[in-house]
Amino acid sequence: MYDLPARIHLAQLPTPLQPLERLSERLGVRILCKRDDLTESALSGNKVRKLEFLLADALAAGFTGVVTCGGEQSNHARATAIAAARVGLEAHLLLRTRDPHEPPPLSGNILLDRLAGATIEWISAEAYAEREARLEAAARDLEAARGGRFAVIPEGGSNALGAWGYVRCAEELAAQLGQAPATIVHAVGSGGTSAGLHAGCRLLALPYDVLGICVCDDRPTFQRRIAEVLVEMGERWSLDVRKEADEIEILDHYTGLGYALSRDEELKTIIELVRAEGLVFDPVYSGKAMHGLLREIAAGRALREPIVFIHTGGIFGLEAKAAQFSPLLGGSG
Ligand SMILES: *Cc1c(COP(=O)(O)O)cnc(C)c1O
Repeated sequence: MYDLPARIHLAQLPTPLQPLERLSERLGVRILCKRDDLTESALSGNKVRKLEFLLADALAAGFTGVVTCGGEQSNHARATAIAAARVGLEAHLLLRTRDPHEPPPLSGNILLDRLAGATIEWISAEAYAEREARLEAAARDLEAARGGRFAVIPEGGSNALGAWGYVRCAEELAAQLGQAPATIVHAVGSGGTSAGLHAGCRLLALPYDVLGICVCDDRPTFQRRIAEVLVEMGERWSLDVRKEADEIEILDHYTGLGYALSRDEELKTIIELVRAEGLVFDPVYSGKAMHGLLREIAAGRALREPIVFIHTGGIFGLEAKAAQFSPLLGGSG
């Protein structure tokens, strides 16, 4: 077996596993939802599972602040800002936006970042391409300007330590689903969730297929990135979790218009799901992945049942799409 690395308690776990009854009946396929949107309120979503390990490590090493990065409505940046406030760390965020001189309005995740006292540095897509160097430089600058010590948390919290958050999720699924086959479907944005699920399924010898649906980049990029995280976990904790890149299943034909951009058909799927099940998926990740899953099922793709869709959160990103939702809602506006 294995020992989990040290963690702090931030998330309300285990999250429920909920049957989607009307959707299952309509599709003739058994679908359950793992409610990781219920991990917390302002901390909701998948990132808090990773932050339990990442912040435990930062605190143990004596850091006084953290620096991380993401898109302008980054759920990871927001979760980091709130979690840092919870444990008395400072947070500084590098957020990608079209024109850093005209930052986006104070809404959704950005409002929460600021409420939590995080400082934001707006950066262009070109600067974001060098995010690793940018994060290191920001940490050194903050230490010089404010004192203290700043730990760098990578994009999405998706390194070997953060991935343990989804080993724990696999433990919960084992208790909730048992040892029978299943397919675990989830959105992929930086790969840490996938890496943790693959590692957890291997460590617990679970007969689950893990299927990621990416919302940006492409299949080879994520296969490589996830395989790298598994190698790092294997080396650092002496575990047999390694996988070949081509053993990692990723669908990359549902990225649509690109990261954080929505097609009307994706937003219609989100509306349909709220109305059928009372569940709100987000446009950037979970709604896009759910749309992909429903398209795969409609196209006759055989998946081992039950299908467990992980609702990875993201509700604060909904507001940014209000104008695009408006004409799709019908009825009285
Ligand atoms: C970050 C995020 C994901 C993707 O998880 P990764 O571990 O980055 O691949 C999925 N859904 C939501 C809502 C997210 O915020």
